[in-house]
Amino acid sequence: MKDPNCLFCKIVAGEEPAEKVWENEEFLCIQNKYPVSPIHVLVVPKAHIVKAMWIAPLRPKGLRGAKLVVSMDQFWGKMMTAVFAVVHQLDLNKTKPGGSRAGYKLVNNGAGYNHFEHEHMHILGGTKTEPGGTT
Ligand SMILES: [Zn+2]
Repeated sequence: MKDPNCLFCKIVAGEEPAEKVWENEEFLCIQNKYPVSPIHVLVVPKAHIVKAMWIAPLRPKGLRGAKLVVSMDQFWGKMMTAVFAVVHQLDLNKTKPGGSRAGYKLVNNGAGYNHFEHEHMHILGGTKTEPGGTT
């Protein structure tokens, strides 16, 4: 599943350059070209999966009758597996000696905050204080 007008689909296809951090068969994790913190990794499914797939079917009757191509539970489980693989690889889950804290924050944008239709998550880190403040 690929959208020819989607930047993330082009990156996955190798048609646009990106600095790869980690990948498996279903996810590609890349450095954000416009980072908001020293560590800013994008976790991108290789398939063109859009947020509307998750939100639109969530009507009062729940997921019954939804036309999901993949299971929401399976997708987000795989997404978080990719996220934690990057957290482990970049050693973000340990406090650093000398008072410099390692840490990370996960961000998933929606609606007006979402700049790409292609579902993805942000891993932010590399700062002594939390990017975006404490939440
Ligand atoms: Zn796409």
